Formats: sequence, structure tokens, C-alpha cells
Amino acid sequence: MKQAVAILGSTGSIGSSTLQVLDSLADRFAVIALSAHSNHELLTSQINVYRPRFAAATDDTAYNALAESLPDGDTRLLRGSSGLEEICSSDEVDIVVFATSGVSSLSALFCAIEHKKKICIANKELLVMAGALVTAHAKQYNVPLIPVDSEHSAIFQCLNGGGRDHPIKKIYLTGSGGALRMRKKELLEGVSPKEALSHPKWKMGKKITVDSATLMNKGLELIEARWLFDVSPGVPDVVIHPEAVIHSMVEFVDGSVLAQLASCDMRLPIQYALTYPERVPSLVDTLDFSAIRSLTFEEPDTERFPCLRLAKEALYAGGTASCVLNSANEVAVHLFLTEKIGFMDIPAVIEKVLEKHILKDGCSLEEILRLDTWARSQAYEAAARLRRRAVM
Ligand code: NDP
Ligand code: MG
Repeated sequence: MKQAVAILGSTGSIGSSTLQVLDSLADRFAVIALSAHSNHELLTSQINVYRPRFAAATDDTAYNALAESLPDGDTRLLRGSSGLEEICSSDEVDIVVFATSGVSSLSALFCAIEHKKKICIANKELLVMAGALVTAHAKQYNVPLIPVDSEHSAIFQCLNGGGRDHPIKKIYLTGSGGALRMRKKELLEGVSPKEALSHPKWKMGKKITVDSATLMNKGLELIEARWLFDVSPGVPDVVIHPEAVIHSMVEFVDGSVLAQLASCDMRLPIQYALTYPERVPSLVDTLDFSAIRSLTFEEPDTERFPCLRLAKEALYAGGTASCVLNSANEVAVHLFLTEKIGFMDIPAVIEKVLEKHILKDGCSLEEILRLDTWARSQAYEAAARLRRRAVM
């Protein structure tokens, strides 16, 4: 019997790679639900190909466009985050892939946990913002969260080979260093969105590619690892590994280090999450060690890339700090991509918002969502102040 897969965020980079994996494993999986935010054209063509049982658009305009253009058929059209919740609650759905960006699918994640779906999670922002709540909920319902992010998939795979009870000493999250690894500090100020978007190794959505250039992506991944693997803040650390062959490593208490190596292709971690605990042949190129020749490692430079320092501080501070970090970062990256602020203004904006925030522990979902709104408006204000100062 085929397993029915819902892809939330099917029009994005992870979403389309997931569809390629499902196409290649059509004997095991069937697409039951797809969702987009605003890209109704691509969602329409995906619906025409996959004829899913459900399709959802979280943006109202996109929903209205779909409602007008979709021919009567077997696909039920759903709207907004309640539409995503309905998909996650349906008895017809076996697996949910969280390939959305941002916080909007948080309530859907809670639904998927409560309905005991197999959950494959790419959306790291959900864990960064509400890691304590999400993981407590998953524990309560005894539902594992299977990582899709390549580093966390690597860690998950190392842990699966690491023995019972995972006696972990250290987690090494590797990162290529992003588009600006070699850029001198004084030249970072003038970096354009185009330069920040030219990632040397991975082809991803724009927001995460800018996060890779600022090293915020590694910072978010530290927080993601802290929650996914239930380790204390000092356990995960970042190592820059420009070849991006090792996708992360785990050091166990006896001093053994296990690493996972593979080509840079998100279809592998996506497939591993879908087929876990099984491994099956994939579309991914095998590694050519004679071409790789050497693997190198560097310390991350938090002076040139202060976002990583800010993320580490938020990780250690705990409570609401990482939620504020994430929301302020989303706004700052958006303002950078729309050329409203410069590259080095991204950490400046985030730091200003973190300074204003009063740390709280043990928040409810509603409080986190309110804090998200507060941090976003503070980030816009901080960016406006920076701009005013720049023209004075
Ligand atoms: P994209 O921007 O390419 O895609 C995001 C998807 O989410 C799209 O389908 C988009 O719809 C949808 N979406 C956007 N905003 C909303 C919203 N407010 N509510 C519901 N859905 C929304 O992102 P990526 O695929 O690059 O990344 C997705 C997630 O996976 C992120 O959290 C990222 O950090 C994580 N990730 C990504 C990796 C990658 O290789 N890309 C690697 C590891 C993790 P629409 O197209 O209509 O805008
Ligand atoms: Mg990653």
C-alpha cells in the first residue's frame, strides 16, 4: 500500500525537490496534498500533474485565483493556515513534509503531531521559534520529528549508527561558509543581494541563501539541533568546511567521531526522511573521492559574520531569545533583498531588537506568535532608524 504524502510548501525549493523524490519512488508514495503561499500558477500546474486530494493556498489572493481557475475535480481547495491544519488532521494523510518557510505553519505542525503523522521537517524556523513547545508536544504524543535539513539529517544518520541512548559529547555542524567566506571585513558593507545569493555549493530559496552568507543559517541550525536532538546548548558547534562533503559529525563519549558524507543534493536528506528507517537507491550522484582529494576545516569568523554570534547568544539565553532572533532576521533579510538596508545592517537590526526584548521562559503558542509580531515591527523600526542615520 502506498503512503500518502502531503507537502506543505510544494512550490518552494524543498517542495519541488520532494516532488522529484516522490516521482522516483512512485511505487512507495503518492502525493495527497500540496500547498503554496502566493505562487498559484506553479501550484495549479502541480495540481494538474499530481491531482492531489487537497490543495491549499495560504495567501487570500492566490486562493481566490485558484478557486476561479481550477476545474471541478477531485482536488479540494483549502484556504489559509486552517487549510494546512485540515490537511494535517486528515485520516487520508500518512506523511507531512514541512517545506514551508517562516512561522505560518506552526499550528499545522501541532495538528500533525496530534494526529500522529510521520513528520519530515525542513522548516527550521518552526524549531527556532518554538523548539521547546514543539518538542514537548512531540514527546507527549510520542511522534518523532525526522529532520530534512542536510546537517540534521547527517546528525540523525550518525546517531542511528552511534549505539543505544546516543551518548553524545559534541555535535559538529558543518557549513560551507556561504557566498562571502573569503570577503574582507571592510568590503562586506557593500555586498549586493546578487552577490549574497550566489551560494558556492547549494541551490536553495533566497532567504536561506542570504542566511548562509551571513552565517545566520548556521546559527539557526545550532538552535534547531539543540531542540531536535534534545542536547544542551554547549553540545552543538559550527565548523566551516568549504568542500561541503561532510554534512555534519557527531562525537561520542568514547572519542569516536561519526560523519555523514554525500553530494550536495537535498534530495538525499529528503528521501532519507521519507523512507526512514529504510535506505533505498536515490537520484543523487555518488561522491568522487579522486576529484575531492582533500577536506579542510576552519573556525567560523564571528567578527565578520556577527549573526552567528547573535544566534549563539540567543541559544544560550534560551526562552524567547531565539524567537526574537528569528523574527528580526526574517525582516532584516527581506529588507536587504529589497535593497532597503545593507548587508551589515542585517546583524545590526537583529541586535537592536534583541537588546529591546525582555527575555521570558515557558511561553504559550499565542505568546510566541505575539512576540513574533512585536519583533517584526521592532525590526522595521530599527531598520528605519539605521536608514535615517545613514542619510544624516
Ligand atoms: P522557498 O522560499 O523556496 O519555499 C517556501 C515554500 O513555502 C513555498 O512553497 C512558499 O509558497 C511557501 N510559503 C512561503 N510563505 C508562506 C507562508 N506565509 N505560509 C505558508 N507557506 C508559505 O524556501 P525553501 O524551500 O528554500 O525552504 C523551505 C524551508 O526549508 C525553510 O525553512 C528553510 O530554512 C528550510 N531548508 C531549506 C533548504 C533548501 O535547500 N532550500 C535546506 C534546509 C532547510 P510560494 O511559492 O507561494 O511563495
Ligand atoms: Mg542546512
